[in-house]
Amino acid sequence: MSQKHPNVSFEFFPTKTDAGHEKLLNTARELAAYNPDFFSCTYGAGGSTRDRTLNTVLQLDGEVKVPTAPHLSCVGDSKAELIELLNLYKSKGINRIVALRGDLPSGMGMSSGELRHANDLVELIRAETGDHFHIEVAAYPEMHPQARNFEDDIANFVRKAKAGANSAITQYFFNADCYFYFVERVRKLGVDIPVIPGIMPITNYSKLARFSDACGAELPRWVRKQLEAYGDDTQSIQRFGEEMITGLCEQLIAGGAPGLHFYTLNQAAPSLAVWKNLQG
Ligand code: FAD
Repeated sequence: MSQKHPNVSFEFFPTKTDAGHEKLLNTARELAAYNPDFFSCTYGAGGSTRDRTLNTVLQLDGEVKVPTAPHLSCVGDSKAELIELLNLYKSKGINRIVALRGDLPSGMGMSSGELRHANDLVELIRAETGDHFHIEVAAYPEMHPQARNFEDDIANFVRKAKAGANSAITQYFFNADCYFYFVERVRKLGVDIPVIPGIMPITNYSKLARFSDACGAELPRWVRKQLEAYGDDTQSIQRFGEEMITGLCEQLIAGGAPGLHFYTLNQAAPSLAVWKNLQG
């Protein structure tokens, strides 16, 4: 496939085992054939995946040959550690980064680390590396779960954009209206950076329900009911999920979303099925 419309990117997480890493590379090679704009690789807050994220990013970028953005979160890491990592990425020719606050594992207080919010990290990146990095930040069309209210959360998003972010990737959601409303609100506040919807393919009901509860993504009642009704029938869950997510992406693209960012969970097939449906 040589033409790509809209822009597409794929996210991975660094694995703990050699076998998992080999699977990740195979997934990445398969997805690379579809000319994605970039890959990204997550980072465990507090630096728990520091080396694994670094190695994965360098391998995807250098060997699989798709520009790859490391995620970097600031809670739990010192400024010196963050700066060291930024300079290392810069020296290796990495020029896109996803800047986050991160979520520390329970038990580690939010006070560990010198930067408390993602806008502090964006400021640090700009101060230390100028315009070298294209900076992505996170956006929450359904509100960040810890936000006091929508107004505050939007104001905090605007803060990140004004600190120097170039674009944003959203938390996943299943209701296109919340995305359009979020974009409209931030545009009225003078923020014009692209906001790319994060897309979570549906492959497994119980994991999805647990994860959605934790990250504040609403699983609509009708979807929950439908998925529950399938029980262990994985094939039906996947067929329904593919249809539903394809429909969501079609709505987003028709409404002007500038691209799609797939949370692959290191699997190629679910994201590719949706992406191929969108190509017609
Ligand atoms: P922030 O933008 O700092 O916001 C966090 C909360 O603080 C919000 O409630 C916000 O309203 C509030 N806030 C923000 N700024 C201020 C301020 N200046 N003053 C007061 N309040 C403020 N997590 C990881 O650990 N590793 C990853 O690799 C990772 N990748 C992600 C990728 C994407 C695309 C997304 C959407 C999320 C990702 N996350 C990741 C999860 C993310 O770290 C969590 O959602 C985290 O709780 C918030 O991170 P943030 O960067 O959005 O934080």
